[in-house]
Amino acid sequence: MDTFLPLRDDLRGRSAYGAPQLDVPVRLNTNENPYGPSPALAADLAAAVALAASELNRYPDRDATALRADLAAYLGHNLTPNQIWAANGSNEILQQLLMAFGGAGRTAMGFEPSYSMHRLISLATQTDWVEGYRENDFTLDPERVVAEVSAAQPDVVFLTSPNNPTGTALDLSVIEAVYEAATGIVVVDEAYAEFARDGVPSALTLLPGRPRLVVTRTMSKAFSMAGLRVGYLAADPELVDCLLLVRLPYHLSELTQAAARVALKHAPELLNTVGTLRAERDRLVSEITALGCRVVPSDANFVLFGGLGDQTVTWQGLLDRGVLIRDVGLTGWLRVTAGTPEENDAFLAALADVLREQL
Ligand code: PMP
Repeated sequence: MDTFLPLRDDLRGRSAYGAPQLDVPVRLNTNENPYGPSPALAADLAAAVALAASELNRYPDRDATALRADLAAYLGHNLTPNQIWAANGSNEILQQLLMAFGGAGRTAMGFEPSYSMHRLISLATQTDWVEGYRENDFTLDPERVVAEVSAAQPDVVFLTSPNNPTGTALDLSVIEAVYEAATGIVVVDEAYAEFARDGVPSALTLLPGRPRLVVTRTMSKAFSMAGLRVGYLAADPELVDCLLLVRLPYHLSELTQAAARVALKHAPELLNTVGTLRAERDRLVSEITALGCRVVPSDANFVLFGGLGDQTVTWQGLLDRGVLIRDVGLTGWLRVTAGTPEENDAFLAALADVLREQL
């Protein structure tokens, strides 16, 4: 961006984050859950919001005490409410972490391709960004990662498991090794944890005895609540206290807190969709492979596929057929979110068509 306004020098020339929000029949571009709330959940949400509305003259509970207790109960692992913190999406959680532990003169490190907001929020908080190496198959090599972390000694390290946009889950041994090598905060972004295949454990199991470890989660994906904007973290209570220094007072509205608590009450019903989406994700992996593409094994609700040559041509071909997926800027690769079976059928048919045309 170029402006006559006195914008910070380090923001000049940058463009705002944004996946295209296009109105097309099949939208599989932002890793949303395709299943909206059931009528029963929508009615409960409306009732809770109506109740909260009658007290909107008051500020909300600044510390979101009840919501944090509910989130602790949902996560299990013997977590207590003072180990949980909540904000407007995990993006705000990441921002608060960087405001508290990053900032001018400090560094954050991540292994790209990964969730680009780790880098962008680092830059926005004037935290220098150090890029670590991800292998060609998009896994992390423990030895190389440990060497890089030891050499850079970043104030904040981002590990994403399952990783966006690749779907790659991390072995707990890698997280443990990074934690040992690091002196700063280690953030494991588990936005997609609920979609992982059986036997992929959460970094939540590593929290005891590791006061610099943070696990971030969101209600945007598995809980179908992207529009609500609730993300949260689990960490040592002292780390949570540090975040209170940088959060805005009353950052999480009463309506948001009330609605999130209702959604958590409906967790079993909401998480039912996860089983369907995991099966659909596995179907996408095998059917895209059958179409002759290279497909990255996925533990998330999306699939990265490649071998496309110019991916922008494939992306446009799909869009021309009413299917919007994501070009994440990786040459030869595209990312598709698992939608409903019908949406995935439409995507697979369109992809087959486009690939035939490209031959
Ligand atoms: N982390 C990762 C890895 C993500 O992919 C996303 C959303 N695309 C987020 C965090 C942010 O999610 P939200 O702010 O909706 O919680």
